[in-house]
Amino acid sequence: MTYHEDDLMPISALSQYYYCPRRAGLLLLEQQWSDNIYTIQGTLVHQRVHLGEREVRPDLVRLRAVPLHSLTLGLFGIADCVEFYADPKGCSLKGMEGLWEVVPIEFKHGPVRDELEYEVQLCGQALCLEEMLACKVERGYIYYAADHRRHEVTITGKLRELVKIGAESIHEMLRSSVLPSVVMGGKCYHCSMQEECMPKAKKSAAQYVGELWQLGENGDAQ
Ligand code: SF4
Repeated sequence: MTYHEDDLMPISALSQYYYCPRRAGLLLLEQQWSDNIYTIQGTLVHQRVHLGEREVRPDLVRLRAVPLHSLTLGLFGIADCVEFYADPKGCSLKGMEGLWEVVPIEFKHGPVRDELEYEVQLCGQALCLEEMLACKVERGYIYYAADHRRHEVTITGKLRELVKIGAESIHEMLRSSVLPSVVMGGKCYHCSMQEECMPKAKKSAAQYVGELWQLGENGDAQ
């Protein structure tokens, strides 16, 4: 199956989805977005990145703000940076002499941390590059601005599978227009969408309905 260009969804939605499916739903179905300190810092980092220039050396080409898409996965987006390393085991690329390894880089604010959703997002970029350039992407980096450090990510079969499952689930959510339910957890306390989501109210409402239901059941039994 391939998607029509009009039906592509942002690669970054994968990161939102694996943070919390409901958050991705609020964003994509209800076009709600609330910045908090974390998302504002993230936006500033991305703005700085996208001001960058193209860098060309004999063994390295570095491009900023590279448009990406995959009609197979139904994704589109912009890679903060893609690096091409001269590599005898790499692939040939249109318009470039020699063989090259293709390495996407995603920039994030804050210190180095272990976030699966960032790795899935990076893998989404890698799969777009593979489809567009007919190459194999084996690794990428997540650059953490606060620490000025890169964390290398291997593009594993597991990450590829998570991208596929996530992209299919989000497209299904968009087709059905059903907002995923609240799943209260530690992430809710750092989530910028708390006001729109009202996770505690939703939980209380569910409990309230459950209690009413139970009352009715007990009443019928008497
Ligand atoms: S508040 Fe919690 S349940 Fe609601 S969108 Fe955020 S993380 Fe998801």
